[in-house]
Amino acid sequence: MNFVIESPAQASVAVEGSSARFPVRRIFCVGRNYAEHAREMGKDPDREPPFFFTKPADAVCDSGAVVAYPPLTSDLHHEIELVVAIGVEAVALPVEKALDAIWGYGVGLDLTRRDLQKLAKDMGRPWDWAKSFDMSAPCGALRPVERGHVSSGRIALQVNGETRQQADISNLIWSVPEVIAHCSESVKLMPGDLIFTGTPAGVGTLNQGDRLVGSIDGLSDLEILIR
Ligand code: MN
Repeated sequence: MNFVIESPAQASVAVEGSSARFPVRRIFCVGRNYAEHAREMGKDPDREPPFFFTKPADAVCDSGAVVAYPPLTSDLHHEIELVVAIGVEAVALPVEKALDAIWGYGVGLDLTRRDLQKLAKDMGRPWDWAKSFDMSAPCGALRPVERGHVSSGRIALQVNGETRQQADISNLIWSVPEVIAHCSESVKLMPGDLIFTGTPAGVGTLNQGDRLVGSIDGLSDLEILIR
């Protein structure tokens, strides 16, 4: 196909043990999916249906990236999250079939301009500017689903060697299959979609010079530097 300008680069993430990469189509994120995090954000973690927000596909960046401290904020926050990569088209999937839609799993960070998010909440505005900035979705190498699903195991984030967030994936309020089922009721999930599944308690402020190491049992670590 001919385009009137040069075609934009395809956003993508690395794959464990492969030089081939996973092309990213869209990024969906689940809000408040661990009870302790809901409480620290001042919310009651009752089991209301999960809610979603999005980031642009090109917000992804690889492990090893240097992330420039973003503009418009003085309260950049870390949110370590399990990322699910979708490999097939999926519409209104039942929970029992939802695992079939998964291509692989990775460790992600939902970087957040918390001050802008608070302002948006207070003023009844969208969250986009708080969540959807350049390099706001670092994602480590994906592990293909052939090596197993992720339903439990330690998820943790260290900042400059200090553990800031730590929980178990089994503590998700809405499990991975439930999240996929809900998301696929709202949109047709497509190959290349990523779903960030929510962060455990312990979110906090980042500063220039901080080194982050995110980990989930069995998956490749995600390491970034804030500059
Ligand atoms: Mn999040």
